[in-house]
Amino acid sequence: MMTLPVLPPELETRAVRAGHPEYPALRSTYTTTRRPELVLRPRDEHEVAAAVRYAAASGRVLSVRSGGHGLAGTASNDGGIVIDVGALREVTVIHTPLVRIGAGARWGEVAARLAPLGLAISSGDHGNVGVGGLAVAGGVGWLTRSFGLTIDRVRAAAVVTASGEIIRVDHTQPELLWALRGAGDALGIVTSFDIDAMPLGDIGIAQVVVEADAGGDTLRRWSEHLSQAPRELTTNGLLFSQGASGFVLQLTAVVASDDQHEIRRLVQPLAQLGVRTLGLQASVAPYSALISADQLHSNVGQQPSNTTNALFPTFDAPTAKAVMDLAAHPASPFVQLRSLGGVVNDVPADATAWAHRHQQVLVVASTFPPDGGRGLDAAFAPLQEYADGAYRNFESRPHRSSLERAFPGTTGERVSEIRERLDPEGVFWRGRREFTRPEDSAAGLAS
Ligand SMILES: Cc1cc2nc3c(=O)[nH]c(=O)nc-3n(C[C@H](O)[C@H](O)[C@H](O)COP(=O)(O)OP(=O)(O)OC[C@H]3O[C@@H](n4cnc5c(N)ncnc54)[C@H](O)[C@@H]3O)c2cc1C
Repeated sequence: MMTLPVLPPELETRAVRAGHPEYPALRSTYTTTRRPELVLRPRDEHEVAAAVRYAAASGRVLSVRSGGHGLAGTASNDGGIVIDVGALREVTVIHTPLVRIGAGARWGEVAARLAPLGLAISSGDHGNVGVGGLAVAGGVGWLTRSFGLTIDRVRAAAVVTASGEIIRVDHTQPELLWALRGAGDALGIVTSFDIDAMPLGDIGIAQVVVEADAGGDTLRRWSEHLSQAPRELTTNGLLFSQGASGFVLQLTAVVASDDQHEIRRLVQPLAQLGVRTLGLQASVAPYSALISADQLHSNVGQQPSNTTNALFPTFDAPTAKAVMDLAAHPASPFVQLRSLGGVVNDVPADATAWAHRHQQVLVVASTFPPDGGRGLDAAFAPLQEYADGAYRNFESRPHRSSLERAFPGTTGERVSEIRERLDPEGVFWRGRREFTRPEDSAAGLAS
């Protein structure tokens, strides 16, 4: 491999290479252990721009990292360059409720900063997930049915494009704003997002555990119930097979209200959805207790896994049965069920690059080593017959077909057109097989 060009002096102070004391904490991601040749840690958008120009000229594979929580491990690489925007983590209230958030902040930090102001932003389910990777792609979390996806409230962003230009994307550039909300990485490196927060005091948080039947009636009832339920209610479930003892559905229900009567009214029916109730507990707490800054940690490849997912308009009887069969599969996948619908589906399908606006459920399945992915694929394949789309951030092995499920039809064509217009040389996508066309392979752009 050719040696890297000499770094400009202003970037040399931001460079981390093997042997540097911080290299072990910067080279990897949550799911993968990697060995990049160079990690650059810019402190502002001008340094990000300089880093992009340097990486583009080097011809090396370039990875972009905000929090390093991406399941596909695309935030690092072997032998290439990583631009880590983790230093860009300021959270500033521009004017209530508009908040500017550095892409390198973690969602736990955002929740902690906004909670004392009585504000919250719908994000994911974990405080350590980075703002950048989630907010460019979707954001399905504890407040999804009440406040929508994270991208639905993104109003503007600062972006460094592949040519090293800093652009501001807002309503004056509708096509770029459309892409920012669901395919923001197609524009370049987002350095900050302007997002409308929602007024939110304390919330109801409940754990509801029920026995689920193998035939799928419990899951079908859950899905029907949620499709009609008030939007203050969002539930995320874990589905476990206990072998001969049957199945357990463990729901975390979040009610976007601190009214105890309202919390009880929305949570209690959930306990009736299963074969029998195994547990019900509810409390009132700030949102920042769920998305906690206490969850912050380094990502050092500690959790290798295979993950895939699919979206569903609803769980009819055959779909619900297929999900139960997934949970019972000998590959023992870890199965998560996440509520969509509510406010998410108020947005027209062509208003953002997340085109999935009629689905009610996201199913995510993961397996862990020693399964290398075959077990997961065998377990998940029967579900695809009922699926309608996918969320790219819960895909650990992205490829062209998973990208097409996330960006179906004309949505995918629009995203590709923007990606290729802003990054014709493939600075951000060289080496990424999901963006690779046969002609790119021939030109040596793909690994
Ligand atoms: C434990 C865990 C829990 C999760 N929970 C949820 C959840 O509840 N809801 C949910 O929606 N998702 C969830 N996810 C998935 C999450 O959305 C993705 O992993 C997301 O990519 C993480 O963001 P990050 O900044 O940490 O990613 P990184 O690993 O830093 O980046 C991943 C990719 O995102 C892109 N990217 C990152 N930053 C930028 C940027 N600034 N500009 C442009 N592109 C960028 C790049 O392509 C990069 O390769 C979870 C993941 C894990 C591991």
